[in-house]
Order: sequence, then C-alpha cells, then structure tokens
Amino acid sequence: MNDYNAVRCRIAPSPTGVLHIGTARTALFNYLFAKKNGGKFFLRIEDTDKERSTKEFESEIISSLQWLGIHWDSEVTRQSERAELHSAYLKKLYSAEKIYYCFHTVEELSAEGHQAHICEYRDLPKEEVERRLKSGESTSVMRFKTQPDAFVVFHDLIRGEVKFHSRAIGDFSVAKNINEPLYNFAVVIDDADAGITHVIRGEDHISNTPKQILILGALHDATGEEKFKQPVYAHLPLILGSDKSKLSKRHGATSVSEFRDQGYLSEALVNFMALLGWNPGDEREFFTLEELVHEFTIEKVQKSGAIFNQERLDFVNGHYIRQTSVDELTKLCLNIPSAHTPEMKDDEYTRKIIALESSRL
Ligand code: GLU
Repeated sequence: MNDYNAVRCRIAPSPTGVLHIGTARTALFNYLFAKKNGGKFFLRIEDTDKERSTKEFESEIISSLQWLGIHWDSEVTRQSERAELHSAYLKKLYSAEKIYYCFHTVEELSAEGHQAHICEYRDLPKEEVERRLKSGESTSVMRFKTQPDAFVVFHDLIRGEVKFHSRAIGDFSVAKNINEPLYNFAVVIDDADAGITHVIRGEDHISNTPKQILILGALHDATGEEKFKQPVYAHLPLILGSDKSKLSKRHGATSVSEFRDQGYLSEALVNFMALLGWNPGDEREFFTLEELVHEFTIEKVQKSGAIFNQERLDFVNGHYIRQTSVDELTKLCLNIPSAHTPEMKDDEYTRKIIALESSRL
C-alpha cells in the first residue's frame, strides 16, 4: 500500500472526442480523492493515437475541466512528447526478452480475431528476428511474453480482490513497433514517471489492469528502477442510461459542453456527477466542491452501475439556478449561444425576461 500522505492521482483523457460525462466524473473522483488526502491531481493528455487525436479536442477537454472547476496541479503533460522515453523502455524490455516481435500481418491477425494468445513467434531465435527485420519483413505488433499458467491478483479499493488467469490475458500487444507504444505500455511508463500512487478509472479498464501490472513487473525486473512499483487501483462503476445500458448518445447529451450549452450550471453538474456512484451515507443532496473534498471517501463508491437520472439533474440544476442572482443568470444566458433568441434584443431586455422567469428556470 502506498502512503496516503503522498497521494498522486491523474486523469488521462484521449483527445479523440469531447469531454464525456464519464471521464469528467472520473476526473472529479480523482480530484476529490487527491485533495481529501492532501495529495496532487494531474492532467495527462493521451494523444498517441495520431489518426484520431486533435488539438481541438484537447482544448475542448481542458476548457470543460476548467469550467467544472476541477483544477490540476502542474503543467499538462502529453504522451506524444514522451515518445523517446517510451521507445527507450521498449528497447530495454526487448533486450531482456520480455517482449517479442510478431510477424503476423495485420490481415492475418484480424482474420484470427486478433487475439493470438500465444504466438508462434514468441520463441523465434534473436538472430532470426534480426535477420527478418533487416530484410525488411514487416511486423504487426510487439507482444508481451505472458507466463502461461499464472494468476494476476490485485486489490481494488472498490471491488476488493480481483483475479485474472494469464490464459485470459495471453501474449497481448504492447507496441506497434519499437517506436510506437500502445496504450497499456505508455500508460505504465507515464504513471511511473509521474509517481502516480492511485489509479482511479472506469471499470471498462479493469481488463487492462493485469496487463499493466505484468508490464510494471517486467520493467522492474529489466531495469531495477524503483519507480516501477504497483499503484493502488480503483475501478469506478460505469454510468448507465435509464434502460441500464451504457450511457451513450441515444440517451441524450453525454458531453460536458453539451450540458453547459443546454443551460446546466457547473455547480449542478459537479453535484450530480459526485452522486453518480458515490453517496455521503446520509440524506444530504447539495455540496460545494470544498464540501465534497471534505466528505469524499472511495470506500463509499458503489460497485454496481450508476444510473443517469435526467430528472434529478434538472432538479439539482433548479436548486442552483434559484441560488444564482438575476445579474449572474443574465451573464450565463448571454454566454450560451443556443440560448440566444431574436427576443433578446439587448442585455437589459434579457435581464428583465430573466427576472420575470427566474423562478421557472
Ligand atoms: N486514455 C485512457 C482513456 O481515456 C486512460 C485510461 C486510464 O486512466 O488509464 O480511457
């Protein structure tokens, strides 16, 4: 177990889309956990997927987090700026024979359903590998040599003991090639370098965790570097729509900016998100961010999916709107492009409408 006095958490969004409410909730829980324990919270942009990542999505994610009031410590880091380091560690694992080149073509892999659990290239003699590489033979991925008959067990702060058999993990891919790591590899290096003590993320990542634990162990063995030690993990329940399926576009708005543009206040969204999967253990419904920091305990996060209840969000928003002055509401409305109508001739006129309607907003 790590020392709670030196807690370091992070949110690591991929800029391949706008900030989803699920990622925002994960950011909030990391922030609350870090601040509750007097620790630090970092923002790392995971932009290694060059085809899908954009600077526009990165700016949108940053401004949405700022709008919510979830502030990070230190500079934003970007995975793409750390490519040389990732590559250096891939080379170390390759020299230590912890990973190997897979010479299956991408087409062969997809025909097989990609999950070649143990690939026949695993034990290809090094000289033969070098010969093939020199002759220009292409590789599809680099794979991790998973021990065939073992368990990976870890303690999850929310779910308790979690156990995976190595058969279910197989020789998973860690990189496209020696210069292009894939998510599971890059995340381990970046978390270790940032001294992350607690990895709190969505339950959809739970099957990545044993892979990351295996990579950590291999890096520790190959380099002897102390930073490669296992963080504490906590996997948050998914956010579900009212029909209990994973929250998606067909349920309505899913991104923070959509909620903002529909007129939800950041205080309301923060309150609502905090109670998606966590509760203070009593009937209280409204909290400032400071109060949430004070109240938050990861042990009170539930295991089962958290249902997104639109009526509750509207109710919470109504509460915060009624607490907001007419001047402030006018300013907020004027900032929402979709709220502009031809009737809003000027700011003073808008103010009058809001004063008349504020109890019904
Ligand atoms: N980039 C990953 C995501 O957005 C990060 C997952 C993690 O927290 O490790 O899902």
